[in-house]
Amino acid sequence: MYIVLLGAPGAGKGTQAVMLADKKKMVQVASGDLFRKALQEQTELGKKAKVFMDKGQLVPNEITIQMVLERLSAPDVKAGAILDGFPRNIEQAKALDKALKEKSRAIDKAINIKVSEEEVLKRLSGRWVCRNCQTPYHETDNAPKVKGVCDRCGGQLYQRDDDKPETIKNRLQVYMKETAPLIEYYKKAGKLVEVVSEGGPENVNKKIIAALR
Ligand code: AMP
Repeated sequence: MYIVLLGAPGAGKGTQAVMLADKKKMVQVASGDLFRKALQEQTELGKKAKVFMDKGQLVPNEITIQMVLERLSAPDVKAGAILDGFPRNIEQAKALDKALKEKSRAIDKAINIKVSEEEVLKRLSGRWVCRNCQTPYHETDNAPKVKGVCDRCGGQLYQRDDDKPETIKNRLQVYMKETAPLIEYYKKAGKLVEVVSEGGPENVNKKIIAALR
């Protein structure tokens, strides 16, 4: 299965992608994680992406599409993947459809995780992420058992540079303009499922798994 997770920054895509990957034994492909990894490794791609990420803007399509499609050609994602943060605009969605079609595959479902803007601001400003496995936490709503340490892998937790209030505002604007039209795109294709993000991550995950059946 190829599953796309849609939703504003802070909707819980990362949390749900990790949970789905664990429960469904699937591989999570998160474009933001791929950029952050490239940045950590100081590659040219990472340095180029950082300029856009720091401003809360989208990294240009030619860089992003190539990076994600390359990742999707690896053997571990032959059977499918959970796509988190990609596609983020119509051009990326079309490039993804085309690449999958060439392999006689297609997106099975696009899950839109709905959340209010107020909730997004609260979630992102309290977010901590594992440096090692990228699992997200929240300092009050979803705190790790030991402060600063990942429950899953023991990795160190950190706050992302682009989770600053000013950058969050830009990311939300970019989401409304560029990414929200994807909801209509997948609706027209008959692939859209909408899930409201409330009642905690486990509850949201149950709704998503039910929708995938
Ligand atoms: P995320 O971890 O998904 O919130 O992504 C962090 C940042 O990486 C975004 O604000 C963008 O600057 C960049 N990014 C991630 N995915 C994409 C994408 N599909 N297209 C363009 N830029 C992206």
